[in-house]
Amino acid sequence: MTATIIDGKAVAAALRQDIAARVAGLGFRPGLRVVRVGEDPASGVYVRNKDKAAQQVGFDSATIALPASTTEAELLEQVARLNADPAVDGILVQLPLPPQIRADRVVAAVAPEKDVDGFHPLNAGLLASGQPGLTPCTPKGVMHLLKAAGVALPGARAVVVGRSNIVGRPMAQLLLAADCTVTIVHSRTRDLPAECRRAEILVAAVGRPEMVRGDWVAEGATVIDVGINRLPDGRLVGDVAFAEAAAHCGAITPVPGGVGPMTIACLLENTLDAALARRG
Ligand code: NAP
Repeated sequence: MTATIIDGKAVAAALRQDIAARVAGLGFRPGLRVVRVGEDPASGVYVRNKDKAAQQVGFDSATIALPASTTEAELLEQVARLNADPAVDGILVQLPLPPQIRADRVVAAVAPEKDVDGFHPLNAGLLASGQPGLTPCTPKGVMHLLKAAGVALPGARAVVVGRSNIVGRPMAQLLLAADCTVTIVHSRTRDLPAECRRAEILVAAVGRPEMVRGDWVAEGATVIDVGINRLPDGRLVGDVAFAEAAAHCGAITPVPGGVGPMTIACLLENTLDAALARRG
């Protein structure tokens, strides 16, 4: 293996330390509320990790756990209360939501200035038009990793595999804002391997275990694997065949320990940014 491994745990730890130091000098505690509806076990782990990380950097953080039977109207009322609460700087409604609740309605109900997930249509529009706003945490984390790895962005050919609102689309917007030449590929793309081989920076956000093979990756490319897939034998793998890609790419993120830790660190960063913007 010749590739440099981009250590997301270390980059995330440094970012969290920096946030904790900034919070210590504020004179107030940024407030984060995570709303969880129902008992989805994976969501439970995410929510606990977010709460713990927020406490560690000195935030006033709490989880609001609502039963799986919560109606859309009840959840919207809860969001409205948090929107109106001056002690709350950041609101995160953990997805997925139970089927009786329309996620897009809830996402659009969060006050844009408290939307620390960066999913509100206003924040998505600000990102798409190159204006400052709250940015989705996972792609924001990828940009931190590229910076930490010293990857030169202006003019670089970047290919993003996946076009979800949570990862692929905002990822492409951030790379574009950093002056990359960006291509988005997806399930209807003709000749995916050929498109990927053109990438100097390849970001995979697909949700298909090890779909991106070694011969899809250009010599010396930087490979960012956003995918988190649990195999039947319990192993966690990304969307990239790690060993194959690492044999000839320049740098690569591992799974776990790559993009994953950055997502929570960027949630903390968004909450601090939201608190500073809202409280002047
Ligand atoms: P998603 O909403 O399911 O979107 C997947 C995207 O991949 C879609 O745009 C889809 O294309 C595309 N795709 C699916 N199959 C494809 C194929 N065979 N060829 C080419 N493109 C294909 O998933 P997501 O929320 O973006 O998440 C993607 C992955 O990232 C998942 O593994 C998820 O667990 C992981 N993730 C990780 C973090 C983290 O913190 N590290 C955070 C969020 C997500 P179409 O649009 O054409 O259907």
